[in-house]
Amino acid sequence: MSETVLALGADNRAAVRRLADMLALPRLEPGWVWLAGAGPGDPGLASLHTLHALCEADVILTDALVNRALLSLARPDAEIVDAGKRGGKPSAAQSSISRRLIAYAKKGKRVLRLKGGDPFVFGRGGEEALALVRAGVPFRVVPGVTAGIGGLAYAGIPATHRDTNQAVTFVTGSGADGRAPNLDWDAIAKGSPTIVLYMARKHAGSIAAQLIAAGRDPNEPAAIISNASLNEQTTIVTRLAALGEAAAVADTPAILVIGENVRLAQGLDWLGALSGRLLDPDPLGVEPLSDAG
Ligand code: SAH
Repeated sequence: MSETVLALGADNRAAVRRLADMLALPRLEPGWVWLAGAGPGDPGLASLHTLHALCEADVILTDALVNRALLSLARPDAEIVDAGKRGGKPSAAQSSISRRLIAYAKKGKRVLRLKGGDPFVFGRGGEEALALVRAGVPFRVVPGVTAGIGGLAYAGIPATHRDTNQAVTFVTGSGADGRAPNLDWDAIAKGSPTIVLYMARKHAGSIAAQLIAAGRDPNEPAAIISNASLNEQTTIVTRLAALGEAAAVADTPAILVIGENVRLAQGLDWLGALSGRLLDPDPLGVEPLSDAG
């Protein structure tokens, strides 16, 4: 690395530390592990705690979905370990990741475990944290913007909206064995007006069929947001009955959302508006709720 790049990196780390000190934020201490979320992709969605830990860490174990740009904040002498887990691709075994976290911490390293989105949402953060508890390693959890909320927001779809859904359910489309999870789809279909599916590309068709069999309208709007919050973000808007076909051609990573709130994107696709999309101020075709109310 050139002297200039190193100096710029040091300047950036100093700026982050100053900000963290000014706000009296905790430091990543030797012998500790921080399990931190990096958000869905846009590095601007990483929290100050996460940036701060990136600057301090001796070792960073990172997931495949973490934006590489964030790692430019790491110290030049920090060890960066790829501990990615991606469906269908070779990845480090979960138990070996936990073992490494423990071993580094016991050596007195400052350890950052960086995960895409939020570490406690379909991220196995709970499993890793429990392994730390068993080993007596002190840790902190830094929540992140999860794809099921941040990804929807970047597509102009509020996770909840008074006119469309007063509840939302987050579901994994892929169980521990790689098959569709064994859930009570009947109850989900009836009880949750909006359903957000993670890791669901493969089983989208069969999940949609089960929801329709349980009484959901085949014409209900659905959307697939790929590469949410990144430059390559794309959104496919479709209907429940066609979700499987649409998912088969969508890029990954992708988040799927089923529900009337998907219609709001016609009014709220702020990212599309930046490149000229006209926004419909009444996407649901209802009188807007009173501002005074
Ligand atoms: N802990 C992560 C989820 C990990 S599971 C979180 O809170 O977001 C991985 C799944 O998350 C992917 O299969 C996909 O469904 C979703 N995902 C993560 N990043 C995404 C992105 N940028 N765009 C769309 N989906 C994403």
